[in-house]
Amino acid sequence: MSTTPFVKSERLQKLPPYLFAEIDKKKKAALAAGRDVINLGVGDPDRPTPPTIIKSLQHHVENPAFHQYALDQGAPELRQSIAKFCKARYGLDLDPNSEILPLIGSKEGIAHFPLAVLNPGDISLVPDPCYPVYRSSSMFAGADVYTMPLEPSHGFRPDLDSIPTDVFNRARLMFLNYPNNPTGGTADLPFFEKVVNLAKTHDLVIAQDAAYNEMYFENPAPSILQIPGAKDVAVEFHSLSKTFNMTGWRVGFAIGGAPQIAALGQVKANCDSGIFTAIQFAGKTALDEYETITPPIRALYKERRDAFLSSLKKIGWNATAPEATFYVWIPCPAGYTSTELCGRLLDEADVVTTPGLGFGRTADGYIRAALTVETPRLIEAVERIGKLKL
Ligand SMILES: *Cc1c(COP(=O)(O)O)cnc(C)c1O
Repeated sequence: MSTTPFVKSERLQKLPPYLFAEIDKKKKAALAAGRDVINLGVGDPDRPTPPTIIKSLQHHVENPAFHQYALDQGAPELRQSIAKFCKARYGLDLDPNSEILPLIGSKEGIAHFPLAVLNPGDISLVPDPCYPVYRSSSMFAGADVYTMPLEPSHGFRPDLDSIPTDVFNRARLMFLNYPNNPTGGTADLPFFEKVVNLAKTHDLVIAQDAAYNEMYFENPAPSILQIPGAKDVAVEFHSLSKTFNMTGWRVGFAIGGAPQIAALGQVKANCDSGIFTAIQFAGKTALDEYETITPPIRALYKERRDAFLSSLKKIGWNATAPEATFYVWIPCPAGYTSTELCGRLLDEADVVTTPGLGFGRTADGYIRAALTVETPRLIEAVERIGKLKL
């Protein structure tokens, strides 16, 4: 018997190449060699989940009713708490039964949403740079991706007026992500209003990724659903991961119009069987307590941001202070591509950063630093970089 070598699907073969392989290899080698590596590469909070949330899980995990399959539409108690949170934080009136859907992390919902919206041959409008899932999930749904560059001159917002009419005619979905990973750019209500109007004109669905909405420094980030009528066209994805130091727990939620939320629920009902109910109740505790839990987390990142930015300034590097997110988007010194620069920072300073190219073709002139190590280590990282002859 002959065995034919496995060939993966065309859909996987079409995905953009994994650009972090080289950096990953170097990082592993540096760690294996016992070098003192400072890792500013990963967008994952370094601090543990707050004790109140852990205690809530410990309590609820004892409940035998929670050991069985969870409800596909999420626990009603969690949906109630999400509704209360969205009312208190954004002034939104959401029906917990039809306009809220808990997710196994927002990534899961973002990855499944295009299957609920797009037909093969539709266009999906995707920002560049971006969280890579927008592009891959659009491609999995058979859509063509149209890239919307995020330029600093536009405040890292897409230039909506530059999108050609024939693109709009075929476009069905637009991804947005504010506050933005990796650029740290933010959106305001007038921008969201423009987006909602555009969506109504061109019969578009907006998927706004609000994973960093609670990680702001001066002005609380808005929800796109604050725009009157936005529910007709927009779904917003929220995450407990970064907000509450809960990346490993896998809980987030989608909010928006009932038909779009139901469509996402239909995809999910065919893929997963809900979130472990004890985790949903721990998530409920997090949201119920957000006014006490989140201010110290924001204060910590603000302190780190300010220390990191002033250290960068001392070595003559100019980066803009992000108004939200725990990322600093740093322009490469003249003559460097992002991969070359990240390579040198790792080889010669033992500092891991992420090359902009990994987030999109337009971002090769930037690297991303995540503020996910303690302040003294952030300062040390910059001091090491300052000693290099770049
Ligand atoms: C981290 C991140 C997510 C994923 O969050 P989960 O809720 O943990 O799945 C989504 N979008 C962006 C932009 C992120 O950086």
